Amino acid sequence: MKRVRVRYAPSPTGFLHIGNARTALFDYLIAKHYGGDFVLRIEDTDIERNVEGGEESQTYFLHWLGITPDESPANPNPKYAPYRQMERLDIYTEYANKLIEEGHAYRCYCTSEELEEDYQRQKAAGYASTRYNEKCYHLDEAIKKQYQEEGRPFSVRLHVPEGKTYTFDDMVRGEITFESKDIGDWVIVKSNGIPTYNFAVVIDDHLMEISHVFRGEEHISNTPKQMMLFEMFGWEIPRFGHMTLIVNETGKKLSKRDNSIMQYISQYKDQGYLPEAMFNFMALLGWSPKGEKELFTHDELIAEFSEERLSKAPSMFDVTKLTWMNHQYLKALDDAKWLEFIKEFVDGKFGLNDREEAWVDTLLLLYKEQCQYGMEINELISQFFVDPVLGDNEKDVLSWETTQAVASSFLKHLPQDWTVENLKEAFNTVKTETGLKGKPLFMGLRVSATHQSHGPDLMSTLYLSGHDVVKKRLEDYVL
Ligand code: GLU
Repeated sequence: MKRVRVRYAPSPTGFLHIGNARTALFDYLIAKHYGGDFVLRIEDTDIERNVEGGEESQTYFLHWLGITPDESPANPNPKYAPYRQMERLDIYTEYANKLIEEGHAYRCYCTSEELEEDYQRQKAAGYASTRYNEKCYHLDEAIKKQYQEEGRPFSVRLHVPEGKTYTFDDMVRGEITFESKDIGDWVIVKSNGIPTYNFAVVIDDHLMEISHVFRGEEHISNTPKQMMLFEMFGWEIPRFGHMTLIVNETGKKLSKRDNSIMQYISQYKDQGYLPEAMFNFMALLGWSPKGEKELFTHDELIAEFSEERLSKAPSMFDVTKLTWMNHQYLKALDDAKWLEFIKEFVDGKFGLNDREEAWVDTLLLLYKEQCQYGMEINELISQFFVDPVLGDNEKDVLSWETTQAVASSFLKHLPQDWTVENLKEAFNTVKTETGLKGKPLFMGLRVSATHQSHGPDLMSTLYLSGHDVVKKRLEDYVL
């Protein structure tokens, strides 16, 4: 069997978006599942639309997600390099000339005004879609020669074969067919000498020995154009597959303009989503495993991936599910990893750098089970940085006689050496001394010492509130 080589070929016209990242992930999974190569190629021929930093964003965030290319501009295999299309222009010119010589392509001298005029005429005549009128295909040899000598600007057009049917077995959708009569002669090299996407992609996929072309569904209608080129060159056609759309919760296509959903991988990183969770979540956007299991490691996903289970229906981008998944991954971190991760997200306004490490670690570990994404930590820990206001519920607890008993006993046994362990010991003494248990004991202490009726683990909360604050609250209440 031919070596499996799958490419992800972004145009650096923006930053790594959830849709692109998903395509890259599936390209990667196919390649790795079959023990093949995952190739990153930069399709930067649309020079007006390229954005500064677009390529860097793609590369950086793919690595971050763990979708690491085996070959890329930064890590080229000399056999296939270069990996940026704008560095391959000579190659495209050579192949375009070959097609011209063989009569498959021709120089088109029509100006954009002429073309526009003709398209308007076709529209006015009621044609559903407009196409090139093939004027330059039929140009007289003498005229062609004259134009060439004059150095008239030209584009290169492919002459679409007549009466041909292009059928491919799409990895997602099964058999898809196009008729050549529905496709007009199309431009393969623009008048500025830069190839069009549909032309460059075929040359590259062939020369880079790509076995599977797997991409978004917007490229389905490009596939026959690419197939005709493969055929004209006599090259083997790769396996094609087109993923279904990603839609939002209302079933609408995820659009880059939709601000209700974060759509760039950088945003998820900044909010404190783990790359492993994103990887896992995106793998289920368009593919489903056998059975009910949803949490998969990187290697499990590579092993489990199967073309048969690619989804034919659009995949819903369910943020709640992503957050749930991230939460599961965060909970599974060991304490040291959690602390290392979460410290990056704590707002400087809390001044944790000026606190003792043991205090900081106790604070952050307190929320390891609860925190769903990194930035959420700021909301969670904020209770330790404001003086809570007593509500009706708390006032009620303070009115209980048992609360008086618990608070005064605890005040008596308040440890000098302020540790969670010593606080637990003091608590046990209070329990014996007062003979209380359950709600009167726990709630009484919680409200009298923390002024809140809800919160994380009580002993840690007391420890974090600090000796002086706890003492003062109890004294004010008891005395
Ligand atoms: N550069 C194209 C894009 O970003 C790649 C399409 C393809 O994979 O063939 O949409």
